[in-house]
Amino acid sequence: MHWIEIDKEHVWHPYNSLPSTTKILPVKRTDKTSIFLEDDTELIDGMSSWWSAIHGYNHPRLNEAIKKQVEIMPHIMFGGMSHKNAATLSKMLVDLTGLHSVFLCDSGSVSVEVALKTAIQYQEAKGLKKYRFIACENAYHGDTLAAMSVCDPNNSMHSIYGSYLPKHIFTKAPNIGIDSDCSEAISALEETFKKHHEEVAGFIIEPVVQGAGGMRVYNPKFLEKAKELCEKYDILLIADEIATGFGHTGKMFACEHANIKPDIMTVGKGLTGGYMTMAAMITSRNVSETISNSKLGILMHGPTFMGNPLACSVAIESIKLLLESPWQERVNNIENIFTQELEKAKDLKLVKSTRNIGAIGVIELNDSSHAQAIQDFCVENGVWIRPFGKLIYSIVAYSICEEDLRKIVRVMIEAIKSIKS
Ligand SMILES: *Cc1c(COP(=O)(O)O)cnc(C)c1O
Repeated sequence: MHWIEIDKEHVWHPYNSLPSTTKILPVKRTDKTSIFLEDDTELIDGMSSWWSAIHGYNHPRLNEAIKKQVEIMPHIMFGGMSHKNAATLSKMLVDLTGLHSVFLCDSGSVSVEVALKTAIQYQEAKGLKKYRFIACENAYHGDTLAAMSVCDPNNSMHSIYGSYLPKHIFTKAPNIGIDSDCSEAISALEETFKKHHEEVAGFIIEPVVQGAGGMRVYNPKFLEKAKELCEKYDILLIADEIATGFGHTGKMFACEHANIKPDIMTVGKGLTGGYMTMAAMITSRNVSETISNSKLGILMHGPTFMGNPLACSVAIESIKLLLESPWQERVNNIENIFTQELEKAKDLKLVKSTRNIGAIGVIELNDSSHAQAIQDFCVENGVWIRPFGKLIYSIVAYSICEEDLRKIVRVMIEAIKSIKS
């Protein structure tokens, strides 16, 4: 059996049936910001593998880092043992975030699970019975059960698993637009905190861009207010920077748009430059000390592959590479090109609106029925994007060349034009 047939018969793909009813592309290899299919078709990568491949693929320095590490030590258990890579990476994350205590774990969703557990333990350590969370409508924080419970309750998997999930508190998301008026959402937030603070351990939010829940860019003023309210009511502010982190919005972390520091931050996706599955939860010193000084005294989580040395080695090199590169200038250039090219989509009949920030460009359509047709058109024209519903979007590696970036948006627009209404 050809591997493509085996895949079709036996392998689940994300959010899919088995066998898949939609086309799955067979990929042979990658190079820089290109994907090559089995038949050698080249696609320009408009997705950077779900926000992760920030330097493109097969970067010689990242390849070298992981090759070197595999000879030294591919893995070692983290319980009762440590290694230089874990310490080096953690110190880098501490320096970048201004936070203090690092928990390395397997994936973004797991880091959100750990963040929620940490917030509960923090409140318990203070003698408080606070077990609920506030989250925003349209939020996306991952697919595991607790992470899912703080995702948007309406357009999400709550319709399938809702009766199993703990019930958290959802507040109005700020309007779309970095300069938009968010006073209504701020008033709602104040009300929500006032009403529920006695039972709430933490407020979890994706700073400045709500990603998978709608690609919604919003005004950082909302974050400033959230920080103020969290301090007032002793509710932990959990910034989920898994999508936005490592430069995607033009700042190293999106919290910097509001000049705030969260109590807990989660990072993932771009952390290893898209090479290995790894994420981290980083907290303030206050949070880790409060838990460590409590009666229980320990943080109750410890995945088998915690602090994996291979993942650490490539994360260290990816962050070095980022810091040594003119990444801010590159992301600004990408932002300008997205702004110019997306302008051309604004007047199309099927288009509701466009928006962009940093390395993220979004076209929102009036309805969601064209996603597959648009994806197919783009692939036929040498561009890989994967729309969801009404959202036709691209997130690119910072190393993408201008010509390829312009082509991505141009082909997205041609694809929309090709839809017969
Ligand atoms: C992708 C994502 C997650 C989940 O990360 P996984 O690595 O897919 O588990 C959580 N929060 C945000 C904001 C994300 O974009």
